[in-house]
Amino acid sequence: MVLMGKLDWIKEELEELKKKGLYVTIRVLQSAQGPWVVVNGKRVLNMCSNNYLGLAAHPKIKEAAIRAILDYGVGAGAVRTIAGTMELHVELEEKLAKFKKREAAILFQSGYNANLGAISALLRKGEDGIFLSEELNHASIIDGMRLSGAPKVIYKHLDMDDLKKKLEENKDKKKKIIVTDGVFSMDGDLAPLPEIVELAEQYDAIVYVDDAHGEGVLGSHGRGIVDHFNLHDKVDFEMGTLSKAFGVIGGYVAGPEEAIEYLKQRARPFLFSSAMNPPDVAAAIAAVEILQKSDDLVKKLWDNTHFLQKGLRDLGYDLGNTKHPITPVMLYDEKLAQEFSRRLYEEYNIFAQAIVYPTVPLGTARIRLEPSAAHTKEDLKLVIDAFEDLGKKTGFLK
Ligand code: PMP
Repeated sequence: MVLMGKLDWIKEELEELKKKGLYVTIRVLQSAQGPWVVVNGKRVLNMCSNNYLGLAAHPKIKEAAIRAILDYGVGAGAVRTIAGTMELHVELEEKLAKFKKREAAILFQSGYNANLGAISALLRKGEDGIFLSEELNHASIIDGMRLSGAPKVIYKHLDMDDLKKKLEENKDKKKKIIVTDGVFSMDGDLAPLPEIVELAEQYDAIVYVDDAHGEGVLGSHGRGIVDHFNLHDKVDFEMGTLSKAFGVIGGYVAGPEEAIEYLKQRARPFLFSSAMNPPDVAAAIAAVEILQKSDDLVKKLWDNTHFLQKGLRDLGYDLGNTKHPITPVMLYDEKLAQEFSRRLYEEYNIFAQAIVYPTVPLGTARIRLEPSAAHTKEDLKLVIDAFEDLGKKTGFLK
């Protein structure tokens, strides 16, 4: 349909996005999520999904979802506070709390909604309080603070002197909430949680960590960044997603029982958007059970990560400060990163995303690779070889 008249501005906006190189092309997968996927009829090695443990198409998880459809149907039918709470939701909340070694957890329909709901409920406009937010926090955290309407101050990436300075400036405020990503998704670097917790204790601040990329990856059995640093009960709120390592969809926040009870009374996506669907909840329960029982997949993920990152570093690539499977292959130049992504896809059958401005600062363009436990060493060797070949062909590698 051609847009006309009152909607002309949409066409103009789309053209503007294209002109600025910000228009996103959506690739359509014709197969299940996994180490290899079919895109536009072509089988390509998938190096850009967050399915870290390969659970998205795991047979036990698929079976759990099918069983739940037969027992509970496909829809939850209402918001959680009306008629949408099924025994499955309660079971998953209990299992997640136990997995994270916390008293309680609250489920949301996505990680995005978890941040939006929890953050906006913890501090509201007009209260005597402030958010202290890390510079590179995820968009859902930023949107949560916007929905709250309470004031915020941004501290510099990983800069504890700056956080201390900002805590000092706001020390008389009643509520001080430090909000940070645990793992930063474009670089794979980690928030210095032990230092953050120490400052929080000093200034009596609340700590809220987004562990979207930490769970299933860091800590014992993939319990996440808090477990990795052994800071249980020192971090007040641990937010997680069920869409990455867990391979499903949904999000949650874990923490002290009364605080979680409070979020169930106050968090807007919990109150005003229908509950997670039964097959998704059952699938997530199966995913948590798999991780509780065995850390084999987490170990495989790390083995693959070390293999890929060593191979690329040996070729001379700069992978920044990653401490995680997120592997930013720094190419710096925006056009070169776009060229790498296109040629990896067209010439080497490798599906890998270029990350450019404005997602990252100008001059820091990169290809972001994400190995998973489902990749084989042969798969990853293909990637290393392709980066060697293409690096030489483009003159990037000398
Ligand atoms: N936080 C971070 C750090 C993320 O990377 C993401 C996903 N991109 C989210 C939150 C949102 O999670 P979900 O995709 O489950 O909505």
